[in-house]
Formats: sequence, C-alpha cells, structure tokens
Amino acid sequence: MTDTSTTATGSAVACDCGCPIHHGKPRTVWSDRQCRCVLVCATQPTTVVAREADCVLFLDPAHHHTVLSAYLLPMGRIDWPSCAPIAGGDDPRANRILAPLLASIINYLNAALPVLDL
Ligand SMILES: [Zn+2]
Ligand SMILES: [Zn+2]
Repeated sequence: MTDTSTTATGSAVACDCGCPIHHGKPRTVWSDRQCRCVLVCATQPTTVVAREADCVLFLDPAHHHTVLSAYLLPMGRIDWPSCAPIAGGDDPRANRILAPLLASIINYLNAALPVLDL
C-alpha cells in the first residue's frame, strides 16, 4: 500500500473506543499506524463493510467526493495504515460512482434511523 497520509478535518466527536492514541480526542488522521479505533468508534464515519473484498469503505469527512478504503483484519479490526483513497486516488471513475452511492446510503440511514428507533 502507498504511504499516503490520509488526513481530514475529522469530526468534532471524541473517540470512545479506548484507542491508545485517540481516546477522548477527535480523530483527524485516518491512516495512523498506532490507531486501534474500531468500527463502532464515535469518530468513525458511516462505513460500508465489504467482507467479500476484506475492506471497509467510507467517505472522507473532509472531502465528501473521495472514498477511502482500508483492509479489514480478523476479529473486525481495521488495518488503518492501509487507509487510502480507493485506487490510490488516481481513478476518478471509482470515486465518481461510489461517492454518490455512499452519500445516498448515509442520507437514507440518517432519515431512517430515528424511524427504526435503533
Ligand atoms: Zn484511533
Ligand atoms: Zn476510537
């Protein structure tokens, strides 16, 4: 994987998963080697888990037209150092197709979750 430093403005929400470097703080870097944030961490944007491809996909919080992916590890952990724009950011077609789909899923969930009362 490339050593792309994937940074973002992050969310204002603080990590609540016990990650050794983020707990109690917002997350602004998505490819940090020491990060142990889990999928259900409060800092993690809405994420699609693609088990067939052993990866997760989510929209870059700072650039909603960019889709980030990271490898899924055993036990549901995520290989954060592998986090990078899909196709290394050099294939705009993938972002053009996936970013609107992810945005629709997020909009749908935001609208549906209060109804589902989860
Ligand atoms: Zn973390
Ligand atoms: Zn966390």
